[in-house]
Amino acid sequence: MSAQTPNAGPLPAVAVIGAGVSGLSAAYHLRQHADITLFDEEDRAGGHANTVHVEEPGGEVLGIDTAFVVFNRPSYPNMSRFFDELNVDTLRHNGGFTFFDIDSGLQFSTREMSMSDEQAAASGLPPEFLRIRAEARRFHAQGRHDFLRKLTDMPLGEYLDRGGYSEEFRHGYVILLATAVWSVPAHLIWEMPATTVIAFFMAHDEGGLGGEQVEWRTVTGGSVSYVRKALDAISPKLRLGEKVTGVRQEDDGVVVATASGPERFDYAVLAVHGDQARELLENPDPVQQRTLSRMRYNSSSIVLHTDTSVMPDDRERWENWNYGKVAVDGETRPYVAYYMNRLHRLNARRDYFVTMDYPREIREDSVIRELTYHHPVIDMDLRTLQKDIYTVNEGTRLKLAGSYFHSKQLHYDQIGSHEAGFSSGMEAAAQLLRELPRA
Ligand SMILES: Cc1cc2nc3c(=O)[nH]c(=O)nc-3n(C[C@H](O)[C@H](O)[C@H](O)COP(=O)(O)OP(=O)(O)OC[C@H]3O[C@@H](n4cnc5c(N)ncnc54)[C@H](O)[C@@H]3O)c2cc1C
Repeated sequence: MSAQTPNAGPLPAVAVIGAGVSGLSAAYHLRQHADITLFDEEDRAGGHANTVHVEEPGGEVLGIDTAFVVFNRPSYPNMSRFFDELNVDTLRHNGGFTFFDIDSGLQFSTREMSMSDEQAAASGLPPEFLRIRAEARRFHAQGRHDFLRKLTDMPLGEYLDRGGYSEEFRHGYVILLATAVWSVPAHLIWEMPATTVIAFFMAHDEGGLGGEQVEWRTVTGGSVSYVRKALDAISPKLRLGEKVTGVRQEDDGVVVATASGPERFDYAVLAVHGDQARELLENPDPVQQRTLSRMRYNSSSIVLHTDTSVMPDDRERWENWNYGKVAVDGETRPYVAYYMNRLHRLNARRDYFVTMDYPREIREDSVIRELTYHHPVIDMDLRTLQKDIYTVNEGTRLKLAGSYFHSKQLHYDQIGSHEAGFSSGMEAAAQLLRELPRA
């Protein structure tokens, strides 16, 4: 079961299942202390760090990210340190968002939101914008005040009801920013903890994603660049394209089943999504089972394409983050269009967009890749779970990791992000190392 190394003696055999950021982080932190086998059902590592390579009309090849795209150093401390250790090049870009309502034609962007009251009043912008802007200002100021006094421990919908916020503000502002930040469909936003939403805006300025005061960054060449460097550093036994079908914990090890049959390891880190972990565990530890039984996931439809009709007509209004809204069958359907040329600072001949949950047709001949991603639903229950979620890994041979754990450094509201996933892998590895028998 254990490999022998000339100088370090036998190393424990550890299976890491899932080669997304959570699994890569666990493997990276274990690399000098374990003989690592890294499984992923996909034929590539990275999970949501998924760069698509696109050939330009001139033959150049561009790397464009389709899920994990941005980070910033203050809110991603562990991941930033890891990028520094691996010499991962990153690119800074200026923030900026635009909102546009396809039906009413209302458009506003970072520029208009940043105006002084006098400038806004004199701008000739429609009254609807002025009302949304006033409520946004109130929401951010009141939110900060309430957060600091611990008055936000409730679902966002309830918080907005209590504050008397209008439907116009909810559907013309909150919904647009929140769908993008947490990759959640509109109907789940109101269930999100108000504390988590407000904490995000407090840490990232009022614009959140697309705010101008945060130094957002992307990985040069796409996130695949960091994934490759991580794999070089870890040098695991890499088992890509191998789906794990079951995991059983025993007193002296963990049995991992794939199509090749069962294999024994000393320990394992299960770094798949919470609902997938629930399915894979054959004899779950009761604490792990209780925690995983409460996980909910939702899916997002992502399209990488070149169809400019998803954007505002006026090219001058194109920003990194473009939040669109259109009514379909009487229901508000928000969507996000990431303008990838700007986010990756591409020197490209064509315009590239990644849209999330776009409710209309995208021109077929413009589609480069269609993908579905799953993301934890961040609701009150998931936040409550965070209080003792890390106890699930105490004393077990199988450790769990995933972005459904919060980052210990940044508290309960940093859930769902790449930093959360990275931190969970780091903590799972640290827990495992603490429990290794001393020679
Ligand atoms: C559309 C979208 C945009 C996002 N943008 C950002 C962003 O810009 N910044 C940010 O910080 N966060 C972003 N996130 C969130 C972030 O990407 C995720 O939270 C994080 O990457 C999740 O990492 P993970 O390792 O937990 O899961 P994943 O990356 O999903 O990795 C899990 C891995 O497990 C593998 N797996 C699953 N089941 C099995 C099995 N049975 N056998 C073997 N392998 C298996 C999967 O193939 C996958 O590779 C975004 C998420 C989405 C959906």
